[in-house]
Amino acid sequence: MHVPKIAITALVPPELIFACGGEPFDVNNVIPASKKTPRNKLCAWTAIWQEMLVKREQKIDSLVVVAGGDCHNALVDGQKAAMSGIPTHFFFYPFDGDAGYLESQLYKLRDFLGNIEFPEKFREIKKLKKTGQQIDKKRLSGQISSVDAFRILVSFSDLRGDLNGFQKAIAEVKESDIELNNRVALIGVPPIYHDFHEVAQSLDLQIVFDELPYEFIRHSGVNIKEVARDYRDYTFARPLDFRIGFLQKELEKRKVDGIIHYTQFACHHTLEDEVMRQKLDYPILTLQGDMPGKTPEQIKLRLEAFREMIER
Ligand code: SF4
Repeated sequence: MHVPKIAITALVPPELIFACGGEPFDVNNVIPASKKTPRNKLCAWTAIWQEMLVKREQKIDSLVVVAGGDCHNALVDGQKAAMSGIPTHFFFYPFDGDAGYLESQLYKLRDFLGNIEFPEKFREIKKLKKTGQQIDKKRLSGQISSVDAFRILVSFSDLRGDLNGFQKAIAEVKESDIELNNRVALIGVPPIYHDFHEVAQSLDLQIVFDELPYEFIRHSGVNIKEVARDYRDYTFARPLDFRIGFLQKELEKRKVDGIIHYTQFACHHTLEDEVMRQKLDYPILTLQGDMPGKTPEQIKLRLEAFREMIER
């Protein structure tokens, strides 16, 4: 039986896609390893997946674009993909957190996907997300490296399209005993560099919080109503003060010594940097990346200087 591969451009409740018999595929997860130079770009993330989809370099059956919520470039690049003939659905989060609105969006998405054929997937994924939360906790006490924790947590957006395979990958995560000297939070969208967490770890900066991946494990629900009530608090789609309020509590809980705010070239989230600096009372290092690849030397030097500053 053919399992339809449903590409998603940002967080779209994967529980609903699995329940409708599809296999979610987060197009962003292949970007950090990509060697593509897109012809026409603002943000490299959306420009690369747009070109990749239009040129049919990834086999997908349909596309769900998060058009209202956390990314404005995706709205345009998503339409370009749709114009190339890919069956596309545009999904909107409510800026004001209205659960009823989100519920209506989820029903529209269900109609686009077909129908709920495997309702048990909701519970299965809820359980798996609890395991993800345990991994996050273990990383917080040095029992799992931030490199391993990030790899797992970031994959929760699509659960690698394979629940059994993903469960196995989680079970294989090795325990370690890491001294957490310089505890940093990584906020903003994840860095486009595939080795960023390795680099930070090698420079004795321990990432104890990955803001966006944490959103992937934080939300779940056993049916559409519950999913709507929970995902409405997806911080990236809500007003900035809502997200900052959440961050303040989380950073305090995790006892961080400093913050790395990663911003992406031509991403509107870059404009949030000055507000973050005003509202979050920690040493902050703002980095900006553009094209995928290895972490550039200049960024490594800045990370090193930041660690020295925290240590002082
Ligand atoms: S970095 Fe910004 S513009 Fe680029 S895909 Fe992410 S949210 Fe969109």
